[in-house]
Amino acid sequence: MGTSNTHATTICHGVLMKSHAQVAVIGGGIVGCSVLYHLTRLGYRDVILIERSELTAGSTWHAAAGFHSINSDPNVAMLQDYTIKLYRQIEAESGRAIGLHMTGGVTMAGTVERWEWLKASWALFQSMGLTQIQLLTPAQIEALCPIADIRGILGGLYDPNEGHLDPYGATHAFATAAKEHGAEVMLRNRVINLQQRADATWSVVTEQGTCVAQHVVNSAGLWAKQVGLMAGVDLPLVPMEHHYLITEPIPEIANLSRELPIIVDLDRSSYLRQEGQGVLMGTYEPNPRHWNIEGAPWDFGMELIPEDVERIAPELAMGFARYPSVQRAGVKRWVNGAISFTPDGNPLVGPAPGVRNCWLACGVMAGFSQAGGIGRTLAEWIVQGEPRVDAFGVDIARFGSFAANRNYLKATTAQFYSRRFVLSYPNEQLPAGRPLRRSGAHDALNRSGARWGVNWGLEVPLYFAPTDFTETPSHRRSEAHNIVARECQFSREAVGCLDISGFSRYAITGPAARRWLDKVLAAKLPNRGAARLAPMLSHSGRLIGDFTVFNWDDETWWLMGSYHLRCWHLRWMRELLPPEGVNLVDLADTVGGFSIFGPNARALLARLAISDVSKDTFEFFSCRVMDVGMTQAHVARLSITGELGYELNVPVTEQATLYESLVDAGRGLGLTQVGYNAALSLRMEKSVGIWGREFTWAQTPRMCGLDRFIAYDKGPFIGQKAVRLERETAAPRRSLVTIEIDAIDADAVGGEPIWRADQCVGYVTSGAYGYTVSRSLAMAYLDADWAMVGQRLELSIIGERRSCNVIAPSPFDPRGARMRN
Ligand SMILES: Cc1cc2nc3c(=O)[nH]c(=O)nc-3n(C[C@H](O)[C@H](O)[C@H](O)COP(=O)(O)OP(=O)(O)OC[C@H]3O[C@@H](n4cnc5c(N)ncnc54)[C@H](O)[C@@H]3O)c2cc1C
Repeated sequence: MGTSNTHATTICHGVLMKSHAQVAVIGGGIVGCSVLYHLTRLGYRDVILIERSELTAGSTWHAAAGFHSINSDPNVAMLQDYTIKLYRQIEAESGRAIGLHMTGGVTMAGTVERWEWLKASWALFQSMGLTQIQLLTPAQIEALCPIADIRGILGGLYDPNEGHLDPYGATHAFATAAKEHGAEVMLRNRVINLQQRADATWSVVTEQGTCVAQHVVNSAGLWAKQVGLMAGVDLPLVPMEHHYLITEPIPEIANLSRELPIIVDLDRSSYLRQEGQGVLMGTYEPNPRHWNIEGAPWDFGMELIPEDVERIAPELAMGFARYPSVQRAGVKRWVNGAISFTPDGNPLVGPAPGVRNCWLACGVMAGFSQAGGIGRTLAEWIVQGEPRVDAFGVDIARFGSFAANRNYLKATTAQFYSRRFVLSYPNEQLPAGRPLRRSGAHDALNRSGARWGVNWGLEVPLYFAPTDFTETPSHRRSEAHNIVARECQFSREAVGCLDISGFSRYAITGPAARRWLDKVLAAKLPNRGAARLAPMLSHSGRLIGDFTVFNWDDETWWLMGSYHLRCWHLRWMRELLPPEGVNLVDLADTVGGFSIFGPNARALLARLAISDVSKDTFEFFSCRVMDVGMTQAHVARLSITGELGYELNVPVTEQATLYESLVDAGRGLGLTQVGYNAALSLRMEKSVGIWGREFTWAQTPRMCGLDRFIAYDKGPFIGQKAVRLERETAAPRRSLVTIEIDAIDADAVGGEPIWRADQCVGYVTSGAYGYTVSRSLAMAYLDADWAMVGQRLELSIIGERRSCNVIAPSPFDPRGARMRN
């Protein structure tokens, strides 16, 4: 932290610097200016943007400034859609020209796999409501992109909602409109330090004096790393070099009657758009280069990085082969600039971890597709306390602190960059940053043949296979189909054993623990020695968690939920903690365990447990601490598979021992190791929803059926007023249903649209083959009019229509007799 400097008012370039502000936005790129604008739109007038140099002086000024709404995360796609729709409005509102070219965009594919991927993506976009997107034949591509040599192209996607603009004009338009609404913009004044004051406001120390701000926003782009550290936060972002070239005029283009669309060539990892009478062509090379991983130098001006044509030569050569006239034209200008990347390529938006009133709008790789949506989301968060949309996909809470590790960051961002135009298959495992976290039984499971996936840095078993088995990434049914079938069969007929280290666990203790939990959770709390499903709600009544709450002894309570939501849930719960009386401890790094399920699960537990675990002594949804083999385990009688099942939680250091005990005791009982692919199939057969698929931050409990766990009339709890009000209103537009699909060799994976004739009436949330019921199953949200059992509809799998049928929930053991047995 630097020295304190609390001038009441300072003069900066002839302008009086505010001594106080509601919000100080640091950085005047496209993102910071959009945040400023949106704050004013929500009524904040006393806001200031402080810019080190000139507006646009980071990545913004030299961007290719193309934009598109397509994104594999529906929430990010919506955020991009909003950004694009805002451009015309901001131009009119500010009176500043933004050089908007709505050219449309074409993405083309020349291999069967990529074409399948485009068709699957098209289907996904239909279910997101991006219905303007169309599939193209090669002839249609040629008509739109006459300079492309389309030999070998199998098809493409066309989105009229793509284009490019003038990055300088757009940034100034946001700033001008914000100023009209009362915001202040200070140029040539670097923020040199941030100091949090006792009342949680910030002293924003600049070269020209100090402004005390209630909130600060880090939108410092290429310098966001350093600005984050000023507030004590190490952010998972890093600048990377990116090239494009601009050609001399091309005669074939001069003769065109309309501007070229933006063209993305998936086979050649390049993009191209018209620039004057030439083109702008950029590449995403497989050997990217990081640039100043600790952030750009402070004296880096509006300058370019020397080009490194040799490094990108193979991709350029492929690009030139696609566009012969471009190859003939001379290169007028090279641009090599830096862009901030995060491990998954999405931005960091929302509250900075661990500090109050410090907000993020940085790590933005696609500022011209996203700035508007980021600005709106963050402004809502600051002003209204909660964004109106599900912002988890851009919230820094989706990463653990492990993501800021320099080596992890370099590996994952390089992987993201190099795969920018590379398709991923549903069964594909990417290697960057792995293995990082391993459960206590990892090595033992490895010896049993575990094949690994990753959940928030933790290796989790997907299935167990012989050493010589290899799986090819595919959209079709996986080669592990029969292996997973066997794991499901043993789970239904004998006993399965699944590593459940990949769940979060929080211990809540202290004299006020019960009272606090009763306020934080919307369900009735379980009695001593019992567990219960418990939604957690935001103040506006939206879902913010779907926990199992365990009451071990009326003094120690546990919440168990989704592992990847740990930072998100901890942030929320810590905000709600009273000054004393409640201790909240994150156990996920210290407790692991196994779930055992199937008709022989009780016999297996009985062989290891000292206490009586018979049906009537240890009932469904009860929990207790007991000796299991040599471990002292927290055991609960429940399972998401619909089988008689138990969850055994032990210290991480004892998990391998527990595993060995289970394997020994399981002899003769048909014990088999089970991975998460089988768990998915088993839960589909029971219509059990999970977070991120069936349940999200965008929903209220009534929308997804979790309202059945809400104790509306218990004492006050967070979100109570909102959900009571909702209970009085009409039923939600869509219902969560189970469907069976006439699938051939591919099952639904999630996101597929569901059709009634040509009307999209819903979308799939999860899908899998149900091995016990021998049917391809999915869970889906459907318009209420079409959600009745027996309704026949169609859905798109890999872009091809299959008929499907709404069925009653839980196609396997619908009355739940087995789990209660
Ligand atoms: C070659 C290239 C091509 C690109 N093409 C596209 C494209 O086609 N489409 C697309 O969407 N995106 C593209 N981008 C990315 C796009 O430019 C960025 O996503 C976007 O500009 C990020 O904007 P920003 O406001 O977050 O950051 P920046 O533009 O980096 O702005 C940050 C600002 O903060 C200021 N600042 C930093 N520290 C301080 C401080 N301590 N005090 C005060 N001020 C500070 C800086 O001076 C700077 O002006 C491209 C980028 C490059 C380099």
